[in-house]
Amino acid sequence: MGEKLYEGKAKVVYATTEKPDEVLMVFKDEATAFDGKKRGTIADKGVRNAAISAVLFRYLQDHGIPGHFLEQVDERTLRVRRVKIIPLEVVVRNIAAGSFSRRLGWPEGQLLVEPLVEFFYKDDALGDPLVTEDHIRLLGLATADEINRLKELALAVNRLLQDFWRERGIVLVDFKLEFGKTETGEILLADEISPDTCRLWDAETGEKLDKDRFRRDLGRVEEAYAEVLRRARSAPGQAK
Ligand code: UDP
Repeated sequence: MGEKLYEGKAKVVYATTEKPDEVLMVFKDEATAFDGKKRGTIADKGVRNAAISAVLFRYLQDHGIPGHFLEQVDERTLRVRRVKIIPLEVVVRNIAAGSFSRRLGWPEGQLLVEPLVEFFYKDDALGDPLVTEDHIRLLGLATADEINRLKELALAVNRLLQDFWRERGIVLVDFKLEFGKTETGEILLADEISPDTCRLWDAETGEKLDKDRFRRDLGRVEEAYAEVLRRARSAPGQAK
């Protein structure tokens, strides 16, 4: 492993020794919520999230989504293409929950008539504020064409992930994506896709199988991550 490039709340990113256009993402067990005000450890989360992310990126890239994923190196480590992260969290929602419910007063669980894409400006000091497309252009974070591309990719990812999880007995409520740019300006899906970044509900029981178990002290957190990995690895229709 090469030099440490970045350490975040859930992952550490290292340079690789021989390839300047690739990096290694190592997934940690640490968990934070509410802008870092709540902290804890979820046993084996890093192992589960690395594996879940690998399955989902492989699936999305096999279905035409341009992504940064190259291979899983060990149980906590993914090798990915190096990109410059666009400082936006791209959230897609199918069902009201979380900050959408709090901001707009729609009860959690209410179905949205169509998928909603929201952008949040990635800035810890500002608390990742919701931004409009005009804000994004004005701040110089992305051009109008790039914003359209981000929305198109986010909605395509939503359709694919909804199918993936439906076939495994899970409802995809909402999720957050990050994108990056290569040296040549190509936009790639980047970061991770895991129960840390998605709301996943059991289709039969409605049980939450994601980080809300940690955020809201619902218990059985480790079990939920393990269950999501088990289903991600199961064949379509065989998850029960
Ligand atoms: N999310 C994330 N990182 C963040 C904020 C949100 O991965 O910094 C995910 C979250 O897990 C959920 C979706 O994005 O699946 C929408 O989150 P929301 O805006 O509702 O915020 P929350 O209430 O989860 O803080």
